[in-house]
Amino acid sequence: MMPPRKPETFHITTFGCQMNLADSSTLVATMTSRGFRRVPTEAEADLLILNTCSVREKAEERVIGRLGELYRFKKRNPQLRIAVVGCMAQRLGDRLIEMVPHVDYVLGTDRLFQLPDVVEGVEGTSAIMTAFGHENIDSIQPIKETPHSGFVTISRGCDNYCTYCIVPYVRGRECSHDADFVIDAVKRMVDEGVVEVTLLGQNVNSYRHGDISFPRLLQRICYKTSVKRLRFMTSHPKDLSRELIDVMASEPRLMRHIHFPLQSGNNRVLAKMGRDYTIEHYMSIVDYIRMKLDYVSLTTDLIVGFPSETVEEYEDTLSAVRRIQYDSAFMFRYSIRPGTEAAAFDDDVPEPEKIRRLKRLIDLQQETSRKVNRRELGEVRFSLVEGRSRRSPDLFRARTEGNKTVLFSGDEIEVGSVVPIEVTAADAFTLHGILARVN
Ligand code: SF4
Repeated sequence: MMPPRKPETFHITTFGCQMNLADSSTLVATMTSRGFRRVPTEAEADLLILNTCSVREKAEERVIGRLGELYRFKKRNPQLRIAVVGCMAQRLGDRLIEMVPHVDYVLGTDRLFQLPDVVEGVEGTSAIMTAFGHENIDSIQPIKETPHSGFVTISRGCDNYCTYCIVPYVRGRECSHDADFVIDAVKRMVDEGVVEVTLLGQNVNSYRHGDISFPRLLQRICYKTSVKRLRFMTSHPKDLSRELIDVMASEPRLMRHIHFPLQSGNNRVLAKMGRDYTIEHYMSIVDYIRMKLDYVSLTTDLIVGFPSETVEEYEDTLSAVRRIQYDSAFMFRYSIRPGTEAAAFDDDVPEPEKIRRLKRLIDLQQETSRKVNRRELGEVRFSLVEGRSRRSPDLFRARTEGNKTVLFSGDEIEVGSVVPIEVTAADAFTLHGILARVN
């Protein structure tokens, strides 16, 4: 029998968050440097790569659905190889091959960069690899979201083990990139024309490399690079320090947006979620942020219907939302993630009640977003022009300092430029404005 032909071309599909996009970008660079050629369609490829997400059940169902569809490619071409990499590969390991036997390779979050070795049959590698180890951390590539904005990963993994979250199990222990590596990555992006860089980590506030903390890292990036606009995500309330806010207050190139997940407004529920802060601590940081920064957009994540959450405890979340007045929020009803600590809790809030709680919360947040956005009327926001609006192509679309979309009209506007826009109208999701004159 002829040995199977080694793949020469590959196609990659990425599911999930910016972290996965960053990993895919690095994997593409690694594969290409090893002589594999990336092709734009699955039909042209000898190797199909799915970089997967495990955060929600739906995300995994989408991957399983896609793998089912790919079976027809494999039937047509038995030489075709299929690799599942990333979070779902990490979580399921060999069970994935039991579930979907036409998958050839399963490589977890710290092993996906070894895919070329596995495909080439390098000694010591196998088809299922899920061991943790951050040997490749400083090879992670920055990724361009558009020609003028991009992401740089500053840390991988998470040590927090919130009881509902699968991330620490699929991404491993937290590990920070070398500060010089991060600074070089930002410099390279700026050299390529990027105006706005977002630093990524599951919990950027616990970044530490040697004696460099996250606020110090931000200062160094601002000092050593000419990046015009710098953002970061995500901030864990237990680790966000006053020093960080002080650095933001002193550095206008740090954009005025903090994504600051609260999850619940009730201390008992927060403790059961393993969040390690109280609502009082959270509020004290919000007060400090608002005292030090003239303008800031605050966004959050919220979960309703967590196991044992009572109606009164849920009302505490609504009260917190009313008091804090977030600019926007990602809101979810709790669902079990197998493998997490909370999966062993009694999921006792009935589904219709979860739906009811979520709907009320969404209604409240939309009303709040509308109010908060209207407070921007008459203000001038320096905004990065991203292109034409998809829905109204006669208007330009830009991103404000607070990470909001603003639509405006104008002639000869250069995409990638930063322009002052006076806000003239606002709804819950979008701002509208006109080009402003600034002396
Ligand atoms: S901080 Fe909590 S919610 Fe965020 S990634 Fe880590 S474990 Fe998950």
